[in-house]
Amino acid sequence: MTIGHKKQKEVLERLAKGKNIPHALLFSGIDKIGKKRVAIEFIKSIFCEKEKGFCEECYSCKSIDSASFPDLSIIEAKDRNIEIEEVRDLQNRLSLKSYNNSLKVGIIDDAHLMRKDAQNALLKVLEEPKGDTLLILITSYPQMLLPTVRSRLEEIKFSVVSRKEIEDYLVSLGASEEKAKEIALISSGQIGKAIDFLNDKEKLNYFNKAIKDIISLAHSEMYKRFDFAKEFKENQDEIVNVLDIWERFMRREILLKVYGNKGSLENYSLKKIKEIIDELEKTKYLIENTNVNKKLALENLLITL
Ligand SMILES: [Zn+2]
Repeated sequence: MTIGHKKQKEVLERLAKGKNIPHALLFSGIDKIGKKRVAIEFIKSIFCEKEKGFCEECYSCKSIDSASFPDLSIIEAKDRNIEIEEVRDLQNRLSLKSYNNSLKVGIIDDAHLMRKDAQNALLKVLEEPKGDTLLILITSYPQMLLPTVRSRLEEIKFSVVSRKEIEDYLVSLGASEEKAKEIALISSGQIGKAIDFLNDKEKLNYFNKAIKDIISLAHSEMYKRFDFAKEFKENQDEIVNVLDIWERFMRREILLKVYGNKGSLENYSLKKIKEIIDELEKTKYLIENTNVNKKLALENLLITL
């Protein structure tokens, strides 16, 4: 069961059991909030025999979980890219007859990682859907889809999961209330991250170290910040990870300040912290999606602290 997203699930629930399932949907919203899980549950609701929702026990539900359901194809990026061949392959599979005498479904996860040629190939599928097909694109960067592609999708927007929902869920998984509170506070509404933190102590330690770094950098002279950028390993995933943690930390600082606590950045105004968050998001976007010089981008970011 996924946590949160009540409204979105209600809309999908109605679609799943109705006759007018759209040909193409777009699930948009930031990373790690459960978009793909909701998509999988939606597919289960379509194929499960249960009148409302899904059962998790029938052949359809089980084989959807084990990725062996013949009417469902899922495309995921390799090396941060979705090749045009994969899109064409999906097009072929969608044009075959359904095994269940029902829909053929395709999911493209991280759909923004399709380059232009792949998106144009997809456009063909969207323009001339053959038979009963359903395509679901999932992305945290919908603005990277071609307008011609995006305009053919019915968009369902997802937002973060509330802190309370995350806390309750972690407690239901066996976390102490104190631990659940701590993790919920640093998860910024991203349920996937919260579960990672609960299951992996290393991740929590890594998180705490990155926070120590940003607090010390915020109180350091410029040359020390440049040193940090210079020494940072040239590894995209790691930089993005750390930026992600810093952003979470800044959001937590805002919450603390709003509730009247000093936080770790005592001399920073709310406005300043919000500006830093904007910079963090911008830098993360550039590093993930362009060929920007990573060290320079990191330096520019650290100057704004
Ligand atoms: Zn079922």
